[in-house]
Formats: sequence, structure tokens, C-alpha cells
Amino acid sequence: MIFYSTRSSDHTASSTEAVLKGIAPDGGLYTPLAFDQMQVDVGSLLNKSALEISAEVIGRILSDFAPEEMRALIEAAYADKFETEDLTPVEKVGDDFVLELFRGPTSAFKDVALSVLPRLIIASKQKLGVQDDIVILTATSGDTGKAALEGFHDVEGTRIVVFYPDGGVSDVQKAQMVTQAGDNVGVCAVKGNFDDAQTGVKNIFADDEANHWAAASGARLSSANSINIGRLAPQVAYYFKAYCDLVLRGEIRLGDPVNFIVPTGNFGDILAGEFARRMGLPVAKLVCASNANNVLTDFINTGVYDRRREFFKTASPSMDILVSSNLERYLFLASGGDFDLVAKLMADLREKGEYTSPAAVMEAMRERFWGGCADDGRALDAIGRVWKKYGYLMDTHTAVGWAVMEDFKAQVDNGWANVVLSTASPYKFSRDVLSAISDEQPESGFGAMDMLHALTKVPVPAPLAALRTREARFKDVVGKDAMLDYVKNVLR
Ligand SMILES: *Cc1c(COP(=O)(O)O)cnc(C)c1O
Repeated sequence: MIFYSTRSSDHTASSTEAVLKGIAPDGGLYTPLAFDQMQVDVGSLLNKSALEISAEVIGRILSDFAPEEMRALIEAAYADKFETEDLTPVEKVGDDFVLELFRGPTSAFKDVALSVLPRLIIASKQKLGVQDDIVILTATSGDTGKAALEGFHDVEGTRIVVFYPDGGVSDVQKAQMVTQAGDNVGVCAVKGNFDDAQTGVKNIFADDEANHWAAASGARLSSANSINIGRLAPQVAYYFKAYCDLVLRGEIRLGDPVNFIVPTGNFGDILAGEFARRMGLPVAKLVCASNANNVLTDFINTGVYDRRREFFKTASPSMDILVSSNLERYLFLASGGDFDLVAKLMADLREKGEYTSPAAVMEAMRERFWGGCADDGRALDAIGRVWKKYGYLMDTHTAVGWAVMEDFKAQVDNGWANVVLSTASPYKFSRDVLSAISDEQPESGFGAMDMLHALTKVPVPAPLAALRTREARFKDVVGKDAMLDYVKNVLR
């Protein structure tokens, strides 16, 4: 499989090269175009385990890995890390379905990919004969950081530095990151929001001096953000797995299309759904659910992407994003691989803060995608109603998806099964979830965790329960211009 930079035809890569580099030298994102060579026969997956489905789907995308090799890699990556052998179970809630992606070690869906990525990187290094240490730089809106730290800590030949927006993550998310064990890790708050942190990291990748400095110290920079194709590929697998589960339970017939409703920030998770569709999964609509930062809703409806708008801190912080990186990949796919168009739109975004996508691209997008948004009030209301009516407890991100699904059903109603992707454990956002189902207002996130458990009896994931007794190791806060210095200091 050839991976193209989205911004010019000069930078193609094999799957191992794309995994190792993370981002193309011209700032583009590695993306495959030949989906006809990546077709998966859904029927042949029905009797396979979650691990087998993962290996098959990921192997189809990252074709440098032989099937047996990928199977071994996937088994090692997920062994004893998830609460269930299913990895990503599907629950029926009323007439609809919730795909639980949060049963991994850090209780967010990013575990699905970040359990695999370190192994893909190490294996790619070996295949390409690269000796350098890989230095992972990651900006996080809360969940990627911890999932990446959990995946990379003490992995030989790698080091990792995580930046998160100061005051922009939940108490529990912060505690998860600053207590991280491991000799090869660094964690730092950035004065600014997630977009500032993400831009800072992208600037370091694009900075010649930073790359020379890394090379001189026997290292090379790479990314664990969803700009890395090795992050995206493992996410494609759970769309197939969920579909198989619905067929096996007799909820749908093989071949019936399904709607997937995806709480969206960086457009990575939902783009994985588009990959699944292009690889042969019967998908009706991909419903892009945003919180009050509804830049994507506006984009899908108008064709204008405009990041010059107020930034809201919401109860679903992992979706508080105004620049959705992976949309670039979608524009590339929907335009049939038009490098020049994508380069121009991204330059517009950088220079003017907005771009207008061609009508043909938007028509193609609206065939497949539906965009909606729900603010905190509507999301918390959904948590309360769903708990009361069905006894099912959702987190604040999943709740945005649920509320937008209700809009989608009211306005579109295509009659196909609806699957809401549930991206985090409710206990990661205990305070807000508690406020949605009771009048309690505890002071700390951990007090809220206790009360939420007392009230609902939903089990608390063990790693979250253990956090409160752990010592904070990382206390640094830097300005956006000091991020490179922080990286140099940590790695020295
Ligand atoms: C990262 C994240 C999202 C958004 O996923 P994208 O791939 O960035 O669109 C949604 N919910 C949670 C809990 C997350 O951690």
C-alpha cells in the first residue's frame, strides 16, 4: 500500500515509513487512496474474535506487515489490557446501540489504537533498519496523553513527551497524566488551549533546528496523535467488529447498512469509520457529533471551515477542538487525491483562518456524513434521561453523540440501526456525570467518583480508583513558545 502526503505528490511512503514518520515532510498527512486493494469481506469476519478481526483489518491497511506477524503483534498489544476479550463490546440501550470503546487501561477509546501504535513503531523501526530512538511528541485534549503514556512508557528505543492545555482537562485526566510512571516520559501543561498545544507540537515537527538537534542526539521525532496512520488503522477494526456483533445477535442482516454516531474532535475516530466504509463495510451515515465547538457542524452544512470563532471549554473537553486535523485526510479522499486543492485549503486555514471547500467535495461529504451538535445542557440532559429510562450511564462525550443521534433520528430517520460510539468511561468525568443525575456537588473529582458509584453501582475501572493515592511527578507549566525548550530539557 502506498501512502501519499495530502499536500503534494513528492512525498509517498510505505506503511512502515508512514508509521515511523507520523507526518509528511511537507506537513501533509499520510493517506492511502487504493481502497480497492484494501477490501474486507465482512461475512468472513463473523466467526472471528476481536483480535483476529483487528489483525485482519489493520493488516489490510498497513500492508508491510505479513498476516502472521500482524496477528502476533496485535495479540501482544492487547493481551490482558482490556476488561473484556471482546475489546469493544456493544450494548443495546432502548432501540439503539452503544459501542463501548473505553474498556482499556486508561478508560478512553484512544487505548484501542495506542495499545498498538508503540509496537507498530518498534516493528517499523526494525524493518527499516532504523537505529535512532523514537521521540514521541503529543498534544492532548486529555485522553490521548494518558493513553500514549500508558502505551509507550518504558518501551525500549522510545521516549515520549506529552503536552496538555493548562486547566483544559478534567481532574481525573490530569491526575492520570501527572502520576505517570516510567523513565522515558515527560508531561507538561501549556498556557493555552488544545489548539495552541497541537500547533506548538506541529511547529516543532516542522522546525529544521529541532529535527537537526534530535538527529544529532541519535533520535527522531514522531507523533502519537491521530495524524499518525498507525493510530487510525486500529480504529477501523472496531467498526467491523461492532457490525459483526449486530449480525450475530440477529439485530441486522448481513449487508444491511448501519448508522454510526461519533462524538468528534480531531475527526480521527469518524474518519476511521469512513475508511471502514471504503473498505467494504455497509455504512449508511456517519453522524459527526460536536459539542458547543461546532466548527464541523457548520462545515458540513455550509462548506466553509472557519476557525475564527469563540473557543468554549465544555464538559466534553476531549472534543474542545477548532482545528480538526484529520479532516484534511477526508478532503484528500473526497477530492479523489487532489494534492493542490488540499494544500491550498490548508494554506487558507493557516493564513486566513478559514477555507471554502468545493461544492463537489461537499456534495460527496453530505451523501455520507450528517453533522449535528449539542451543548453541555443538552448532553447532561441526555445523561440524566438515559440513566433514568434505561439504567445506562454515559460519559459526557458519549452524551453529545446520544443527543445528536436524537436530532438525526428526528430529522433523517433512514430506518437503519444506530450505533453511538462511546468514547470514555463516565468515571473519567465523574463530576459532570454526577451533576446530570443528582443534585450533588462534591468539591473534587474523586469525591464525585465515590458518590457516582454509591448512587449507580456501576463498577469503577480499577486504574481510575487507584489514582488518588498516587504522587504527582510532573508539575511544569510552560508558555506555547517554550515547548521546544521543554522537550530538549526532558531528553537531555
Ligand atoms: C479523543 C476523544 C474524542 C474525539 O475523537 P477524535 O478522533 O479526536 O474525533 C471523543 N471522546 C473522547 C472521550 C476522546 O478522548
